[in-house]
Amino acid sequence: MEKIIAPKGTKDIFHPDILQWRNLEERILGFFSSYGYREIRTPLFEHSELFSRSIGDETEVVQKEMYTFVDKGGRSLTLRPENTASVVRAAIENQLFNRLSPLRFLYIGPMFRYDKPQKGRYRQFHQFGVEIFGEDHPFLDAELIESAHRFLTTLGIRNTELLINSVGCPVCRPLYLDRLRQAAEGHRPDFCADCQRKIDKNPLRIFDCKVPGCRELARELPLLGEELCDECREHHEGVKSGLDSLGVSYREDPMLVRGLDYYQRTAFEIVGGHEGAQNALLGGGRYNGLIRELGGGDVSGIGFAAGMERLLLHMPGNEQREEKGIYIAYQSLEQMPETLKMARELREEGFTVLSEYGVKGLKKLMKRADRAAAAITLILGEEEIAAGRVTVKSMSDQKQSQIERKELLPWLRKQN
Ligand code: AMP
Repeated sequence: MEKIIAPKGTKDIFHPDILQWRNLEERILGFFSSYGYREIRTPLFEHSELFSRSIGDETEVVQKEMYTFVDKGGRSLTLRPENTASVVRAAIENQLFNRLSPLRFLYIGPMFRYDKPQKGRYRQFHQFGVEIFGEDHPFLDAELIESAHRFLTTLGIRNTELLINSVGCPVCRPLYLDRLRQAAEGHRPDFCADCQRKIDKNPLRIFDCKVPGCRELARELPLLGEELCDECREHHEGVKSGLDSLGVSYREDPMLVRGLDYYQRTAFEIVGGHEGAQNALLGGGRYNGLIRELGGGDVSGIGFAAGMERLLLHMPGNEQREEKGIYIAYQSLEQMPETLKMARELREEGFTVLSEYGVKGLKKLMKRADRAAAAITLILGEEEIAAGRVTVKSMSDQKQSQIERKELLPWLRKQN
């Protein structure tokens, strides 16, 4: 029969890699709790409209990458390609804007995009991210960006570059988009078919195109930075001055527009040392209009999302110390009931115990203890049980001795 394999672009994560994942998750929760973030978990699927309305109909994500399906009730649902829209939806629906303070959320979980799989790019991947609602000051943008940057440093990820830009607001962006459309129109035949459509629908997305010819042409187009209104310009200067005060170095990238439409003003990205499409480690920005767009009030928002597979790829090899277990072996099957009881007793005391049953022969059991990488093996034989003793064997130096049964717990505690 043909084997069933995992869908393209997905990965099984198991031991010992899972230890790196747990370590990363714990570090995320620890680091960001000092900023007052609280964890939120939203459904893995949402009504498709949530994403088309927030991310934008003309974005790559909505156009090409969503896993959308119709359920048995005839609803169009989509596996979440990102989490900001869901967090905003949840906050509006549960009236969190009135109930919680501070309004700072953190999430960790899988996202789904029909992307072209390669190293560091998957169809099911994981992001952690944060969102802050209701705060407008540019220093908040600076603090958020600095926290993202510093977190990567604490993970040991070096040689990163922080790129920042302002993508304007509903006051200055439409004027700029008109200019951009006019300029792009002049080169229409030279753009790819996708970009030709974007000229009409959403010319800002031309900057996302990966086709080399289009990228070349994009360099000739007018940039939003030159057209910002006074408020956006002031905000952007404020963000930079905040970053300067914090001693964070950054590069202004006037072509950084981010792949999601909801951004306003601040947009930023942190890219990793080595080149390639997968060097984007995290990205985010301000999305002041999104909450209103999704039916909430005039509440501002800002956040970022980081790709966890990419962080793990860039983190220096961090050997995880794993707690080694205690293996219980028996001389013959008659000692199995005693083994069963001892395993329970030790687990109740907090030890990791590896026990197997029905294996004939001590020699076989000792081999299995080795393969299970146990630190200590306890051996129960008829004589030991009768004398109230147990044989303990240290697996690292193979030294073996007998100790009193009642001394076992204190002895094991000392071994750690
Ligand atoms: P975005 O939500 O597009 O702003 O992406 C934020 C971060 O998620 C990126 O900087 C990447 O680190 C990560 N990311 C996005 N798409 C993928 C993917 N298909 N596979 C792995 N990581 C991804």
